[in-house]
Amino acid sequence: MSVKRSLRTQLIFQYMVIVIVCMLIIPTAISELLDMQFRNFASERLRENESEIAELFAALYVQSGSWDICALLPMDADFLRWPMVTVQLTDEDGDEVRTYSRMSKREKRRGKSKENEPEILKEELIVSNRDILIDGRRVGGLRFLCVPFNFSPEGAFLRKFNRIMYYAVAFMLVTAGAIAFFMAVRISRPVLNAAKRAQQISRGNYQIEDKMESDITELSILIDSVDRLGSTLEAQEKLRRRLLSDVAHELRNPVTIIKSHLEAIEDGVWQPTPERIRLTVSEVDRLSQLIKEVERLTSIESAGHALALEKADVSQIIEKAALVFDPLYKNKGVTLKREVEAGVAAVVDAGKIRQAIENLLSNALRYTDAGGEVSVTMKKEGGDFTVEVRDSGIGISDKDLPYIFERFYRTDVSRARASGGLGIGLAIVKAIIDAHGGTISVKSKAGEGSRFTLKVPRRDIE
Ligand code: ADP
Repeated sequence: MSVKRSLRTQLIFQYMVIVIVCMLIIPTAISELLDMQFRNFASERLRENESEIAELFAALYVQSGSWDICALLPMDADFLRWPMVTVQLTDEDGDEVRTYSRMSKREKRRGKSKENEPEILKEELIVSNRDILIDGRRVGGLRFLCVPFNFSPEGAFLRKFNRIMYYAVAFMLVTAGAIAFFMAVRISRPVLNAAKRAQQISRGNYQIEDKMESDITELSILIDSVDRLGSTLEAQEKLRRRLLSDVAHELRNPVTIIKSHLEAIEDGVWQPTPERIRLTVSEVDRLSQLIKEVERLTSIESAGHALALEKADVSQIIEKAALVFDPLYKNKGVTLKREVEAGVAAVVDAGKIRQAIENLLSNALRYTDAGGEVSVTMKKEGGDFTVEVRDSGIGISDKDLPYIFERFYRTDVSRARASGGLGIGLAIVKAIIDAHGGTISVKSKAGEGSRFTLKVPRRDIE
């Protein structure tokens, strides 16, 4: 099993790896580059100075015809622009005329102040030779002995620069560590809180104790989603509890009535007349109606899954659904009108679309009093077909309207009427329409009726 580390530790670790890698690479690269540049620069300047000195000696030789004048030049002559060089002048036979160097003083000075600095060994000096030629004849030679770069002032400067740079890197590492810690906390805290909140929700504690905030967009979305999940689950839980108590209550009534009727007959208080038997049977009907509703609960789960898509005539689906409801509407005294465009074909799950329409027609009938009117309209609209079920019934108040598609949601009016179902009909319709990639909308006003509109894609039937 992999070792689990907290998000904060992970983030700090990753930030630090990035920082350390960068800080090792960048200063090393800078140091190497500077070293290279300095070396190139130094050797170029040295070559230039060598040429100047060679020309100078050639000119002096031409003037006087011998090296005597050169032997009189001071040891630390000005032509030694490059202080790390010792120049040995030899005559045409190779005998030394004079050695010029500005280093001796400096060396002495160094010897006093920095005793521990290593001595430069003779073998370490960089040597280069040049002939002094006049009209193609070698009249003498120059030998340049240069202190290696590392011992030069430039080398010392570079070493100092590197030391400062590594101090700066150490300082930046500490600063970066602090920033990494701060950033990790900033990111991990809301995530941790959201995770704790999700854990609370999973344990059934839906109450939001204190609202969390984050100025990071994604984290803010995460927090909001977890909070919304909590409130949705809380609402569902309330609805579920209400449903259970409603079902228990509605089961109790007919059972009590049936039981009292049967006991009265058993005790001989009542004669089992056809009228009384019919009354008892109607209570049994109420019971079986309720059981049917409970069975419908399971169809919520299957409503949105496994569509059996096929090319179907939507016009016929609507007509058939309306036909089934005709006698029920007639019984209650509600008119059922239809305006169905003929021959509208679509790729749909015909059975489920019919179930959706029937649920809407059943609700319209349930919530419309005798004398009212319900109309069902279907027409093609571009790549979609729309179905509208409009009734002149009791309507839905603004307070209930946003929730009616939620499972188990029933308005108080529908419960008071005792005619409602269990608040699952519209949840099923919505699941079916969503699964078809369509939309469902409702317009309603209490007392003025309702209009449900479905818009379903026909899926490129042509
Ligand atoms: P139910 O089985 O209780 O009818 P639904 O999910 O079908 O459940 O509907 C949810 C609630 O929406 C109903 O309880 C009812 O209050 C309201 N409702 C649905 N359709 C209509 C309608 N045509 N007119 C008025 N109210 C309606």
